[in-house]
Amino acid sequence: MSEANIHDVVILGSGPAGLTAAIYTARGNLKPLLLEGEPSSTGDQPGGQLMLTTEVENFPGFPQGILGPELMASLKEQAIKFGTTISTAKALKVDFSASPFSIRTSVSNEPIQTRSVIIATGAQALMLNVEGEERLLGHGVSACATCDGFFFRDQKVIVVGGGDSALEEAGFLSKFASSVTVVHRRKELRASKIMQERAMKNPKISFRYNAIVKELTGENKLEFVRIEDVETSLVEDVEAQGLFVAIGHAPNTELFKGQIELDQKGYVLTRNGTETSVPGVFAAGDVQDSKYRQAITAAGSGCMAALDVEHYLESSH
Ligand code: NAP
Repeated sequence: MSEANIHDVVILGSGPAGLTAAIYTARGNLKPLLLEGEPSSTGDQPGGQLMLTTEVENFPGFPQGILGPELMASLKEQAIKFGTTISTAKALKVDFSASPFSIRTSVSNEPIQTRSVIIATGAQALMLNVEGEERLLGHGVSACATCDGFFFRDQKVIVVGGGDSALEEAGFLSKFASSVTVVHRRKELRASKIMQERAMKNPKISFRYNAIVKELTGENKLEFVRIEDVETSLVEDVEAQGLFVAIGHAPNTELFKGQIELDQKGYVLTRNGTETSVPGVFAAGDVQDSKYRQAITAAGSGCMAALDVEHYLESSH
């Protein structure tokens, strides 16, 4: 492959981290190529988790709030304006064993060659994997209260999980639902004290501990949630129109196994900012952050990755 066909930087992912990295590397004249992913079979669009949200109220600079998809469209427009090439393609295989790195994609037989890579492939919600869940997804079952909570006005909903996300979802859902039951598999919640206190003060929220969801039933929409008490093994079918799964997230790193160091949960390990275990490969956003997981922190680390790429390319010339 001729030198002219080797990219300076390829960015994998089109959430706030990937697009911010694109804006910065494009302004740094690196002519980034960004692989934005492809629409999924369930209709999800490239653009990351913000494509699944409605109002984003905490992104600085938008005192009135902004819709998630609108924010992503603005970031994309800004990245293109400065010279980013965006390809609606998925990375299928990467080889980081030698530079230039190679990336096989869903749209070409020829692998892409690049001197540096920014991994910004994000994370996705974990699901329960119980009978009925997949069938009823979008018909009462959801992993995103901010996307779907509105549909459950005056209805009974269940939130599964005991972390901050579960309690945050429960609080949000209590604005619409007639009742919210948090079902948690242990006796102690994992969530922070302040979130616990807030949820416990909320008259619409109740808790069911030591409880596991076994099955979801309903013809075309959710009707009952089968819950087992782990201490007594008693099983009960609880009526609910909505079930929100909030049991954590998993990073999208399957592609990188064996190529760069990942932690026990599969998140990319970074050091000195956004460096991975392979010089020239950087990571930003939720794919390397299980803690903060905010649009603004993802965007911030996308900026850091772009600056790290610039320094890397300068020093390796
Ligand atoms: P998390 O802290 O990992 O909590 C996941 C919860 O789901 C745990 O209670 C866990 O139970 C339960 N769980 C896991 N797998 C399960 C399964 N298969 N079946 C039933 N329950 C299961 O995840 P998170 O709540 O998404 O929070 C992730 C990070 O984001 C945390 O650091 C959190 O503080 C942060 N966050 C902060 C805020 C905020 O401050 N506003 C909001 C959301 C998230 P166990 O407890 O038994 O393990």
